[in-house]
Amino acid sequence: MAKILLIAIAIAAVFWLLRNHRRRANRDVQRPAEPQAEDMVDCAHCGVHLPRAEGIISGPRYFCSKEHEQAFHPKR
Ligand SMILES: [Zn+2]
Repeated sequence: MAKILLIAIAIAAVFWLLRNHRRRANRDVQRPAEPQAEDMVDCAHCGVHLPRAEGIISGPRYFCSKEHEQAFHPKR
């Protein structure tokens, strides 16, 4: 009789551990998506995505580098 009780406790412990583990795994999966919230812009010349803070602003457009800004406005 004591053996059955031990097995029942062991099964309950395994279920409890699995549930805790799954809950922690879900939390780990959801977290990495948040840092992507930074504002991204496209280079008007080559279309590469870059953070707004690293872009070169020229009027309403963004560029990834000075070279691409000059390539977009060749007459300047
Ligand atoms: Zn570019």
